[in-house]
Amino acid sequence: MIRYRCDGCGLDLERDGSNHFIVKIEAFAAAGKLEFTREDLNRDHKAEMRRVLADLENHSPDEIENQVYRALRYDLCPACHRRFLETPLAGIRSDNKDVS
Ligand SMILES: [Zn+2]
Repeated sequence: MIRYRCDGCGLDLERDGSNHFIVKIEAFAAAGKLEFTREDLNRDHKAEMRRVLADLENHSPDEIENQVYRALRYDLCPACHRRFLETPLAGIRSDNKDVS
């Protein structure tokens, strides 16, 4: 039997979903417009790939995934769901800092 707990406060979530909200978040790098020049086409692409692969070896899979795409899922109770919707960017907005 799968048992869910609120990722915010730890409250047991009912199996019938009556107090269970799911929040899914996707974070990914914004892609700009791709433009290729003659110079781009004439570059040594094998050397470029070797450089990229060597660079990737210096980073963990999590670091690489964070730079490209990350999907997150949270199970929340009604109170935590409401708090999330009120301030979804609470952890990153500078104007949400506690000034007390
Ligand atoms: Zn909660």
